[in-house]
Amino acid sequence: MAYDIQKIRADFPILHQNVYGKPLVYFDNGATSQKPQSVIDAISKVYKEINSNIHRGVHYLSTRTTDKYENARKIVKEFINAGHFHEVIFTSGTTASINSVMYSFGEKFVNKGDEIIISAMEHHSNIVPWQILCERKGAKLQIIPFNENGELLLNEYEKLLSEKTKLVAINHVSNTLGTINPVKEIIKIAHRNDVPVLVDGAQAVHHTKVDVQDLDADFYAFSGHKAYGPTGIGVLYGKEKWLEAMPPFLSGGDMIKTVTFEKTVYNDLPFKFEAGTANFVGAIGLAEALKYITSVGTENISLHEAGLLEYGTKKLEEIADLKIYGNARNKASAISFLLKNIHHSDVGIILDKLGVAVRTGNHCTQPIMDKFDISGTVRASFAMYNTKEEIDVLFDGLKKIIEMFS
Ligand code: PMP
Repeated sequence: MAYDIQKIRADFPILHQNVYGKPLVYFDNGATSQKPQSVIDAISKVYKEINSNIHRGVHYLSTRTTDKYENARKIVKEFINAGHFHEVIFTSGTTASINSVMYSFGEKFVNKGDEIIISAMEHHSNIVPWQILCERKGAKLQIIPFNENGELLLNEYEKLLSEKTKLVAINHVSNTLGTINPVKEIIKIAHRNDVPVLVDGAQAVHHTKVDVQDLDADFYAFSGHKAYGPTGIGVLYGKEKWLEAMPPFLSGGDMIKTVTFEKTVYNDLPFKFEAGTANFVGAIGLAEALKYITSVGTENISLHEAGLLEYGTKKLEEIADLKIYGNARNKASAISFLLKNIHHSDVGIILDKLGVAVRTGNHCTQPIMDKFDISGTVRASFAMYNTKEEIDVLFDGLKKIIEMFS
């Protein structure tokens, strides 16, 4: 089926506006993506028709909201091909998912002298939690380096693995460099050493097909808001055997079976990890977003975005004074770059006046900036609704900025 970009664009109301009198070009999708009407409608429908707290109510509205919430879990399960629906835990986002594993898995399985492996291209959300764990437990963080193109050095990774390694935590797609990491291979290597792997999929699920069973990931984390869904909702997938063995992280309502002052019996999975009133509206909205992605087709989206990446890279490379950071062979649709002698913030501010929204700064990946000895980059990240014509607007804007500064 042909990729109907106009139909897709029509589904996203926010795209059809002018900023500073110029048509909006939204290239900040790596930070958060826009929402289709169906997601906005699904959220509004909950509040208009069925809003009621889940799980504990016997009345009509509560059972309907509960059904919708649990159906959302099934939709997530199918989307990532989890083995069981109770392996899907709703959290507030990727950061919360990673922190849950850090506290819970870390509490049980990480001790003094142990090691955790991450990479040098992680988002701060997949660095700082492990630093805190290491500090708390007297464990050590080991870092997989990457080359000038932004590709992980797998031979160095293999050397880091030892009987001290308790977990590998790695991003699927780098938000700054766009690198699609070979997570399946990374997991295979870790498993050869009996080490579980957490994958930070914040930048992956909406760009590429994710099958957690095929990857054999032990944990997989992602956020709703980057995947065309609402904010404040995310997912932690975990293999049953780990989740069963791990203690609850947050405690309170819903995660219990019985409570007496003498003893509390925890609830079964997945509820053991969903203390308090869950963001059921967010989960229902996220399910709608995943349905939308599925209706367009993940492969179609990947193809469309690969076309944008190729076109955008070629176009930007035409600019002599522009340097791209991140040239991995396997790359998702984000381009980080700098214009010679022009600060990234200046580029972002002027592009904004031309209607083009990009992100500037270190993108929560300071160690990547340190590696390239820069303070930040300009990042244009493309989504399923972006077009080559919009890339032309970015290109013309950059030419204008160079002229202004020359
Ligand atoms: N990991 C990566 C690779 C990201 O890009 C982001 C968001 N920029 C996060 C983690 C954190 O996601 P959230 O803020 O939704 O928790």
